[in-house]
Formats: sequence, structure tokens, C-alpha cells
Amino acid sequence: MPSLSPDTRPEPVGPVDGQVSPRYAGLTTFARLPRIEDVPRYDVAIAGAPFDAGVTYRPGARFGPSAIREASRLLRPYNPRLDVMPFRDQQVVDAGDLPCNPFDITRAAKEIEESAHALIRDGARLITLGGDHSIAYPLLRAMHRVHGPVALVHFDAHLDTWDTYYDTPLTHGTPFRRAAEEGLFRPDASAHVGIRGSLYDPADLTDDAELGFRIFHCADFETMTVADVVGQLRETIGDAPLYLSVDIDVLDPAHAPATGTPEAGGLTSRELLGIVRGLKGLDLVGADVVEVAPAYDHADITSVAAANLAYEYVSLCARTPR
Ligand code: MN
Ligand code: MN
Repeated sequence: MPSLSPDTRPEPVGPVDGQVSPRYAGLTTFARLPRIEDVPRYDVAIAGAPFDAGVTYRPGARFGPSAIREASRLLRPYNPRLDVMPFRDQQVVDAGDLPCNPFDITRAAKEIEESAHALIRDGARLITLGGDHSIAYPLLRAMHRVHGPVALVHFDAHLDTWDTYYDTPLTHGTPFRRAAEEGLFRPDASAHVGIRGSLYDPADLTDDAELGFRIFHCADFETMTVADVVGQLRETIGDAPLYLSVDIDVLDPAHAPATGTPEAGGLTSRELLGIVRGLKGLDLVGADVVEVAPAYDHADITSVAAANLAYEYVSLCARTPR
């Protein structure tokens, strides 16, 4: 990506105009945006990571990127809640799917890290559509190579800081322990949001606490408002470069049935979108939405939620140009 001063940059190429070609027509890129090879430069790349060999229960998140892209056809150009035209004020592209070996998790992680790094090394932001949550580890490695340790806000029903599953160090239940061991995020500026459900042992919580995350349990939402959570998150993050990792199972199964390890008693999609919008103005460098497994969906509930979440990510980027 050539580095051009803002006044010599070409006008961003936006999505196909939904007033000219109806949104259900034509080829499927995210929000019908141009492909990365169609434009000379970009500010934000959206990529799929169709990998799901790291799951512990239901498989199927390898089909997440294509389902989220299909659901993203619904998106319109203006975001009224953030008062921004996210595809006009910056160049957003669909970078296709990152290479990831479907059988060898170590090799897939390396491929994801290298291809993600190639997309962001010149300063662009990356939004990744998973894939299972194991992809967050190579993505954080790529982020660390460019930005150093990031503030990590992790939305999930699950902690994802277990050590191993069946003696395997990289799975969708372990990415943030591997990331902590390598110092990829700032423990003092990081948080889990939406934790709930049954655990294996009380030590799951105490082992996690040693890694430094602030935790907002789903039960905390019985007494805290979305605005309370946003306020405390902003205090925690400060001015650190921010990475958002959202496991769609943070939503209640009523709002996201299509996922690998559903847990009752989750957030509503309104609460999740509200919290993410509340992070406007922070230095967002990258984000992912993972664990959408469309074979278990009904009427695209889950992929519509994920597509709208990715739209909020792009909108946050437009609010705060780097
Ligand atoms: Mn989860
Ligand atoms: Mn997860």
C-alpha cells in the first residue's frame, strides 16, 4: 500500500449503490465493497479466516465468513448512531479469505499471522471474520508486530484462557493464555465482557484472574447499564491501541443460535452493539468476530448480528482516522 498524504489520496471507492443495483443482487463481498485488488490503497481491510479445526464442540465456523458477507448485503451507507458514512470517509476493502490449512492448526496459525501482518504492516486496520476463536492468537501476534502490546477487549461467554485441551496448546478455548504468555496484550488495559455459564472448576476463574483481565460477567448487567460498562471499559483501555475480539456466543442463543458452544443468559444484540459504539474515539487497530457457525442458524439471525457488528467496527474506524 503506497503511503500518500491525505490530499493526494484518491476518493474512496464505496460499495455498489443499493439504489442502482438492489442489495440482494450481484457478487458477494462484504457490504458489496470493492475487492482489495480493485483499488490502489485502503485504510481498512475486511478478511475472512475460514478455520474451525480448533473447536471443542460443534464445528462449522469455517462457513462463518461467507455467511457474514451474505448477511452484510443488508447494510446501508449511513450509520446514524455514530453519525458517520463509514465507506465514504475511508477506503474499505474486502481482502478475501486468509489462507489457513484446514488440518494443521500450527500451520494455519502461521499462515493467518503472516497474511494478516501483510495487510496491516503499512498502518491499515484489519477486521477479521472467523472462523473459530483460535484465530485470535495469530491475529494478536500480527497486531503486536505492528503496534506492540494492545489493549484487548474480549467479548465472550467463555474465558478462553484455559491452558490445553487434550494436551493441545492452541484451540478455541486457549488463544488468550497463549497470547498472555507472549505479552501480546496489556493486562492492565484488557477486559473480558459477557462471561457466563458452567465451568470445569473454580480454578478456571482464579487461573484467569492471574492474567490481569478485568471481568464484566453477564450477571453484572443485572445492576449495571450499558453506559456503566462503557465508562469502566474506557477507563480500563485508556489511550492504548485497542483490539476487539468478539465471540458471537457472547450473545444469548436467542440472538445468536448459530455458534459452537452456546450458553444461556447472554447479552442482547442491542447491548453488544451499544457497548461497541460506546468505544468511539479510541485507537482501534483491529477487530474480529468469530464462532459464527451458520449451519445452526435460523433466518440468518446470527450472521445478521455479526455483519452489523462488523459495520460498527468499520464505523469506529471512520470516526477516528489513524
Ligand atoms: Mn465462547
Ligand atoms: Mn471464544
